[in-house]
Amino acid sequence: MRTEEIRWDNLTKLLDQLFIHKRRLRSELAKDIRVRKSTMSYLIEELHNQGMIRTRRIASSGRGRPNEEISLNPDHGYVFGMKLGRESLKTIVYNFSLEPVDVKEYLIRHFSKQVNPVEQVLKATQELFNSYKPSALGMAVSGCVDIENASVSFSPILGLSNYDLKPFLQSAGASDAFLCNDVDALHVGEIIKTGILRESSLAISFGVGVGASFYDGEDILTGSDGRTSFEFGHFGADINGEPCYCGRRGCLETLASEYVLVKDSAGSIKHFVQSFDRFFPELQRIRQAAASGSSLERYGSIIEYLSYHVGSLILLLRPRRVLIGGEGVVSEWIFDSICERIAGSLSSTWGLSPSMKRVSDPETWEKGSAFLALRRYVRKKLRRTPRSRALRET
Ligand SMILES: [Zn+2]
Repeated sequence: MRTEEIRWDNLTKLLDQLFIHKRRLRSELAKDIRVRKSTMSYLIEELHNQGMIRTRRIASSGRGRPNEEISLNPDHGYVFGMKLGRESLKTIVYNFSLEPVDVKEYLIRHFSKQVNPVEQVLKATQELFNSYKPSALGMAVSGCVDIENASVSFSPILGLSNYDLKPFLQSAGASDAFLCNDVDALHVGEIIKTGILRESSLAISFGVGVGASFYDGEDILTGSDGRTSFEFGHFGADINGEPCYCGRRGCLETLASEYVLVKDSAGSIKHFVQSFDRFFPELQRIRQAAASGSSLERYGSIIEYLSYHVGSLILLLRPRRVLIGGEGVVSEWIFDSICERIAGSLSSTWGLSPSMKRVSDPETWEKGSAFLALRRYVRKKLRRTPRSRALRET
C-alpha cells in the first residue's frame, strides 16, 4: 500500500470511530485503528489543523499518564442529509458531529403536476441552503444512481431518467454533493448507528418498491460502471408474470411490493407508478390498519415472495447480518413473518443463520447519506492539504 493511501485510510478510520462514538480517548483510538502512538499524534495534529476535531486533556485518576479526549468539532460546518422519495424530499441538517440541528420536509403531492414536481421540490429547498450554506450534502434517491456524475440514471418511481442534479446543486450554492441509492443510505445509516463496521450485512427495503444493498465489512457493493447496483426489485420472479414499468416481465416488485396491496384499484404496476398520488390514500389506510394489527392477510403472498428471494440473496452473499426496513414495514408482525419465512426457506444444510434486525428509525436514510457525503468531503479536503512530513508505515 502506498504511503498516501495508508494516510488516507488511517484518517478515514479515525473519523469513522469519532462519528460512531462521538467522544473517544486517544488510547482507545490507537487501539481502534491499530497504529503507533507517533502515527496517532500525527493524525490528530492533521485533523486539528483542519479544525475538524477538538481535544481535551483528561486528568488520570491513578499514577498513569494523563489521557486526551478527542471529539469532532460540531462548529466545523453543516452537512445536509437528504432523502428524495416518491412521497417527499426530506432534509435533515446536521452539525459536523452528525447531530441533527434542523429538519424540513416537502411533500411532493403538494406541488403542481404541470412541471416535474421533483424540480419544484428541489427549488423549494433553496431557503435551507441560504440559511446553512452546507459544507457537504448527501442525497439518497430511489432508483439507479450514477455516483460519480451526480445524476439519476433511472428512477421510474420519481419519473426521472438521466436526470443531472449538478445544475440544481450549482444554483443552490452547493459545491459538492454525494448522490446514493436510498437502500444503500439506509444501510450505511444503520451501520453508523450500531457501530458494527467490520461485519458483512445485507439490507432489504420493503415499500412502494423493493430494494437491497450489500456491505462486505468494508464497503458497499456498487457496479463497476460507477452506478449503484442491486436492482433487487427487478430480479425476475415469474417468467410469465405481468409487464413491469422497467420493461421486464414478472419482476419481484410486481409480486412483493406494496403495489400488490392496491393492485385491484391500480390494475397494473405501470399505472400505479405513474398515478401514485391517486392510490396513495388507499395505501396509507392499509398501512395504518396493518400497523394496528388488522388486514394482515393482505400481506400473505407479498411476504412469501419477498422472503423466498431474500433467502436466495443470503445464499449468494452469505451475510452475517440481515437488516430489514423501509416504509412498508409498518408492524413487528410484518418483520417477524419475513424472518420466519426466510429461516424456513434456508435448511440447516447451508450453515447459514444470519442475525436479523428491523431498521425502524425514520431518520436512518438521511443519516446514512449525510455520513457518506461527510466522508467524501473530508477525503477531498485532506487530499488538497500539502503534507508537512511523511507518514511512517505501521
Ligand atoms: Zn421491473
